[in-house]
Amino acid sequence: CDMGVLDNLVANTAYLKAQGGDDRELKKRRRSLSLPKPEECMITRATLEKDFQLLCERQPIGKKLFRQFLLESNPQYVAAAEFLDELVDWDLAEVAGKDKARMNIINKFCKAHSKSFLSYLVGEVADKCKAVTDKDFEDVMNGKVKDATQEYLKGKPFSEYQNSHHFDKFLQWKEFEKQKITEKYFYEFRTLGKGGFGEVCAVQVKNTGQMYACKKLCKKRLKEKDGDSMALLEKQILEKVNSRFLVNLSYAYQTKTHLCLVMTLMNGGDLRYHIYNTGEKGLEMNRVVYYAAQVTTGILHLHAMDIAYRDMKPENVLLDSFGQCRLSDLGLAVELPGEKAINQKAGTSGYMAPEILKKEPYRMSVDWWALGCSIYEMVAARLPFKDYKEKVQKEEVARRTLEDECKYDPKYFDEGTKTIIALFLKKKISARLGCRTKNEDPRKHEWFKCINFPRLEAGLIEPPWVPKPNVVYAKDTGDMRDFSEIKGVVFDQKDEMFFKEFSTGAVPTAWQQEMIDSGLFDELSDPNRKESAPGLNDK
Ligand code: ADP
Ligand code: MG
Ligand code: MG
Repeated sequence: CDMGVLDNLVANTAYLKAQGGDDRELKKRRRSLSLPKPEECMITRATLEKDFQLLCERQPIGKKLFRQFLLESNPQYVAAAEFLDELVDWDLAEVAGKDKARMNIINKFCKAHSKSFLSYLVGEVADKCKAVTDKDFEDVMNGKVKDATQEYLKGKPFSEYQNSHHFDKFLQWKEFEKQKITEKYFYEFRTLGKGGFGEVCAVQVKNTGQMYACKKLCKKRLKEKDGDSMALLEKQILEKVNSRFLVNLSYAYQTKTHLCLVMTLMNGGDLRYHIYNTGEKGLEMNRVVYYAAQVTTGILHLHAMDIAYRDMKPENVLLDSFGQCRLSDLGLAVELPGEKAINQKAGTSGYMAPEILKKEPYRMSVDWWALGCSIYEMVAARLPFKDYKEKVQKEEVARRTLEDECKYDPKYFDEGTKTIIALFLKKKISARLGCRTKNEDPRKHEWFKCINFPRLEAGLIEPPWVPKPNVVYAKDTGDMRDFSEIKGVVFDQKDEMFFKEFSTGAVPTAWQQEMIDSGLFDELSDPNRKESAPGLNDK
């Protein structure tokens, strides 16, 4: 066999082996790690923004330590912490367990004689809690009582927490989180794909074994093509989002030659690949509904932050090794705060909404149109206004989009699926699903009724299809075109400033989750931990 095939085989084997987790090296490395000493955390203590939501809810280690603090304090704090936990259990319970979970909560927290009674509640909320019934449970407990509990925790408990040893621990983790990230922090594996400014490859964090995808942007290419501000925008949007249905950012750092974005590894291939390259054309209906449900939730997460995605298409939906999907490539995403609308042409031919083609002002509506196109494509392996591999000018696709009625071949589409796609493909924005009222939620549509969304968001619904563990769902390494050499680009001080602004290191929420998932959080928190001699880590 020729060298290309062999190279590819070696690259694949190393990559698959890393995911299998060969961890002798890893264990040795982990024993040498330790948290920064408390006295090294003074500046962090003084400069940390004391925001309750940020410190005790959004950051996973912060949330864990605050909860531990509550559980080791007085009975009121314990009751508040347990109540919030059990409310989550109730929310995620399936039909059978739901009644039991609800009764437990009522008996434990709502009866004045119970020792876990929520005695910090006052006034109307307290009365409502005591009088709660099965009927108004959701409205009262998951609404007013939950809000009042969070409000209560923000006060005295939060300020006491800041003087506790749990908070001292938290500061040590925050200090550790600030470490400088360089390429030495990772092992690098095979290339997974190519983008406009460089390749995306698989990497592994040496300390934890966690696998990620690293999108490398060539600095020279960025400068030559004026890609700086776009790259920074993509990074800033990526670091803001935190959803199970979007590719999340864990690190941003630089090397001499590249800016690097380290993101969730999605090694199950993209949906375009699965629609066209695996036997039968089109996907089975249970897969279509499942992916659409996840994608819709991802889009809503962006919209809730006033971000329009603008590049919804199967090619940008990637599967992970479990068969769950996420939206990727936020390079076209744009923030539209308040009521701001734009009329800039953006997107991919075949998925662009009429309002974009007509250069009319638009906001989030374009994503629902493109989702309609994508569902259509998952079902029929062609676009509403363009056949698969049809040789047709963009202008003609645009004309059809604006003038033609969409056709639904009964061989592929059942009535329900046809109905929801037709609603997403309404040419008039005000008639389109997702746009008919302010913040209309398409997940409430009939077509999704078999999906339990709270469980979907908690990752508790089994995917309808799982990628094979020994297959690399990416083009062979040799098949990817190489980048040409760039000459004559030199960097000035402004460029260096931009590179620095980009390279912010670990992203707190994602990094803390990695520490917990990999077990490193528990290991370093263990009071009986013995450290081996330092010097093993190449800091
Ligand atoms: P660009 O914006 O330059 O097009 P992308 O973000 O689309 O770059 O990435 C280029 C390619 O890299 C994708 O088409 C895909 O094959 C691969 N890729 C991107 N992100 C990931 C990821 N998180 N996991 C696995 N592969 C990825
Ligand atoms: Mg791309
Ligand atoms: Mg892009």
